[in-house]
Amino acid sequence: MGILRIARTCPPDRTTRAIGDGDMPNLSLAGYTLAGESVAGIGTAIAVRELRLCFDLGHLSPPILAASNVFISHGHTDHCGELLNYLATRALESRNLATLFVPPSLAAPLSSILSEWQKMAESKFDYRIVMACPDAPIPLRASLTVTPFSLFHRPDTQGYVVEESVRKLRPEFRSLTPEDIVQRKGRPDFDELFEIRSRALVAYVPDTLPEGLDALPETAWRSRILLVEASFLDDRKPLDAVRAGRHLVLDDILARLGRFTGEHLVLFHFSRIYSPEEVGPLVASKLPAQWGGRVVCFL
Ligand SMILES: [Zn+2]
Repeated sequence: MGILRIARTCPPDRTTRAIGDGDMPNLSLAGYTLAGESVAGIGTAIAVRELRLCFDLGHLSPPILAASNVFISHGHTDHCGELLNYLATRALESRNLATLFVPPSLAAPLSSILSEWQKMAESKFDYRIVMACPDAPIPLRASLTVTPFSLFHRPDTQGYVVEESVRKLRPEFRSLTPEDIVQRKGRPDFDELFEIRSRALVAYVPDTLPEGLDALPETAWRSRILLVEASFLDDRKPLDAVRAGRHLVLDDILARLGRFTGEHLVLFHFSRIYSPEEVGPLVASKLPAQWGGRVVCFL
């Protein structure tokens, strides 16, 4: 049995927790804080606090509300059903513009829902919708891009990988001292000392069939943090029913663990047929011992 790191994230009584409670789940990995909640069929939204973005909006809590860039994976309610509350609450709090990145097929229906809702509520939401096309990098900030990739689920579903561009000295100039480098500043060939390297920081893989894992971009597999849906952990739900819902079982992920070269693989989106208490032991019982320190459950 592998040793598994468990993020104890579920408050004891879900029914009494309101937005604003200070006990929201947090998971710190590789210098990034993951916050939010994820239960299959109920609600998933995971914020990466340091990157000021969140993946999906099927749940609302302060860290999700604080993220102004939202990357929606697909149109199922448990992944985007809290969008209205998110926009309405941000309007009430006079927060800045929210940018909603969505699969192309979602842009028109979402735009019309939000327009109608604003009429109905006689409110004005501050947002823009951006079509996020698979395989087309989206520049987010100076050194940060987010690239959508297609998954195998219905309706159209996509994951995202966040990459950072880092300026590094070219190998042939590594012997230069900091003083040498400062002295060359302002010279026309100064930029030639450096090369731009891309580093994958976080990849988000929500609802998919195993074919989605097989087709994952290489950047996702080498991402420092890779989040993968693990809706089902054993045969409690028959495999044909799991596939009919276009989801993964834990064995699908374990069979492909060897492709992961990043630091932390985070399992999320567990079905509610598992209590939070049984998820950790179930995963640990199947996980090869050498992976124990790198696989984490986001409960
Ligand atoms: Zn779904």
